[in-house]
Amino acid sequence: MKQNKNVFDNVLQLIGNTPLIKLNKLTADFDGDFYAKVEAFNPGHSSKDRIAFHIIEEAERQGILSPGDTIIETTSGNTGFSIAMVSAIKGYECILAVSSKSSPDKIDMLKSMGAKVYVCPAHVKADDPRSYYEVAKRLHEENSGSIYINQYFNQLNIDAHYHTTGPEIWEQTEGEITHLVACSGTGGTISGISKYLKEQNPNVKVIGVDAYGSVLQKYHETREFDEKEIYPYRIEGLGKNLIPTATDFDAIDKFVKVTDEESAHTAREISNTEGLFVGYTSGAAMQAIKQLKEEGEFKPTDKIVVIFPDHGSRYMSKVYNDKWMEDQGFFDAKSAVQATIEYI
Ligand code: PMP
Repeated sequence: MKQNKNVFDNVLQLIGNTPLIKLNKLTADFDGDFYAKVEAFNPGHSSKDRIAFHIIEEAERQGILSPGDTIIETTSGNTGFSIAMVSAIKGYECILAVSSKSSPDKIDMLKSMGAKVYVCPAHVKADDPRSYYEVAKRLHEENSGSIYINQYFNQLNIDAHYHTTGPEIWEQTEGEITHLVACSGTGGTISGISKYLKEQNPNVKVIGVDAYGSVLQKYHETREFDEKEIYPYRIEGLGKNLIPTATDFDAIDKFVKVTDEESAHTAREISNTEGLFVGYTSGAAMQAIKQLKEEGEFKPTDKIVVIFPDHGSRYMSKVYNDKWMEDQGFFDAKSAVQATIEYI
């Protein structure tokens, strides 16, 4: 059957080519036009489908992965889900070491895709044997028929976005993009997109979003790893307690830091103003835009693209749960959505 009838051989053919959607209300009184690249439209509901697919296909091309082999990864959830999805279709075993900070919904989703999951303590140093990096490394060493995706230190993570997300944004904005605003975790998304866009137009300004409690912004400014920057925070998938080589710091013009609380409120605001049900880091990216606007970053002629990395359904027990918001001390008059449920 033909693809133009919207019929596909498998769900992998639907990865990428996500829509760019204009933000109409949130930024109504901001200078510039704002567009969101909504990565929840990927079949695995996040941008990580792109890297899982690209890295696994590349390993197959290089002959280091054949059916029945095992794919191992450390993941805050989204990459794991995408790897599990690709593994299910292609016939690989999937083992995932996740942080205990990941939401229970995310962990259940990984299991439902057939992955074996190890939950590792979140607040230990990266070189602690219990950290999810060390657990994944050990499992890889113990399992000879396995590959370790190692997204934080894998250049193919950058390549995936250089070859797909970057060109898509360039075409979708007809080359008129002036700013990219994207969260940085592994840094693959922002670095890959930036590399492509700056090759087309070196004046495109690329702004990374970092969390308070993460080392990325300070490292970008000083090129020094400052342990004092590190402390626990809530947002999953954004910021880091180490320096990932999948981040090209030279491709990023500056970083903006955002708080857990404001990012959570902004995620809710995106949902109930733009009708886009997005994840916590989408709130973080949009929060960064609000701060940049206050700094006078944008002109009326600017075209700003913000990456919304994943879907809100992954945060039903967190950002979209009133009890969780209350427990964090986040719920107050500032909230855009005080629940409007009436029990009859
Ligand atoms: N948002 C979410 C929800 C993520 O899971 C990640 C990946 N850790 C990011 C943003 C950041 O993307 P990247 O790793 O490509 O920097």
